[in-house]
Amino acid sequence: MIGGTTIVYYLLTTACATTIGLLIANLMKGMFPVLSTSGLEYEQQESTSFMDTLVNIFPDNFISPMSDANMLQVIVMALIIGFAIILVGEKAAPAVKAINVCNDIFMKCMEMILKLSPIGVFCLLCPVIAENGSKIIGSLASVLLVAYICYVLHVVIVYSTTVRTLGGMSPLKFFKGMAPAMLFAFSSASSVGTLPLNLECCENMGASKEVSSFVLPLGATINMDGTAIYQGVCSIFIAACYGITLTPTQMLTIVLTATLASIGTAGVPGAGMVMLSMVLQSVGLPVEGIALVAGVDRIFDMGRTTVNITGDASCAVIVSHLQEKRNARRARKEAKKNNAESGTAAMKNNTESESAAMKNNTESAAMKNNAERN
Ligand code: ASP
Repeated sequence: MIGGTTIVYYLLTTACATTIGLLIANLMKGMFPVLSTSGLEYEQQESTSFMDTLVNIFPDNFISPMSDANMLQVIVMALIIGFAIILVGEKAAPAVKAINVCNDIFMKCMEMILKLSPIGVFCLLCPVIAENGSKIIGSLASVLLVAYICYVLHVVIVYSTTVRTLGGMSPLKFFKGMAPAMLFAFSSASSVGTLPLNLECCENMGASKEVSSFVLPLGATINMDGTAIYQGVCSIFIAACYGITLTPTQMLTIVLTATLASIGTAGVPGAGMVMLSMVLQSVGLPVEGIALVAGVDRIFDMGRTTVNITGDASCAVIVSHLQEKRNARRARKEAKKNNAESGTAAMKNNTESESAAMKNNTESAAMKNNAERN
């Protein structure tokens, strides 16, 4: 029950987050300028329909998604293999160990690449600024503003509502309790780094340790609402900069891919930007456009990580509350059953003692009669 509720909550809130990001970015895209993007190479690709995207997420074979860098297929494959490992059970333990080791190795590779990224971003951004002049700075400020508006809306609307209705907690109490973890996430830009503090905040707010220690680490790995918002907003921004208008089907595809991409995003600084390429690819947008936002990625990242960990905590509070309610209902049912059973036992005892008394009376009467006769 804990696992199912957690996964459903994570998926629904992430889809909500991407939708908010796309809606607000579309409403405000007038602020985004069409830039001179000649410094960035881009060949207009044919965009695929939503149905094709759905069908194409299932790979033909095991190798091609990796060699073609088709991230959507890689994620779907990982999910299928993960479920299969769970079903195989104990026997699959060596595979789990090997996958964990590979994960550590690739995370190290990503860390090394991210260390070099400032130089790469500098080189990518120079030609764009040379072509567009200082107005690019203003446009970056506008896309940052739109992203932060979406972050705040998502936290205030979605989490307040779910925490109040499903978690039985006042949103004010929730945000007050979460303040230390939110501040830490904002400054560290790492969900994984914030995990210990997030656990502490959730326990201080009354979430059960059993629930938090399952929901929060899982959330730090797969639940990234802020990242999904960022990917939605940046897709619209990059499309606007290239003078491309996205169709409703492409928007739906972005909701689907950003939800999946955020699941595949690691809870470390900068990982969301790496996954943005997958979202752009899925609707045929130029991956090179990432250069436009890469220079200020850290500022995006601080906000999106704060949203990410707040989403995880809201889930811990909600699942804890639902679990408590369920336990209380179960205890009530058990107490009722016990009462009913003890009532029946008492009645049975009464009947037995009554019949025993009757039997005794009959026997003593018979003995008396016999004695009188003799
Ligand atoms: N830094 C984010 C996190 O740790 C991931 C991202 O880059 O979107 O949650």
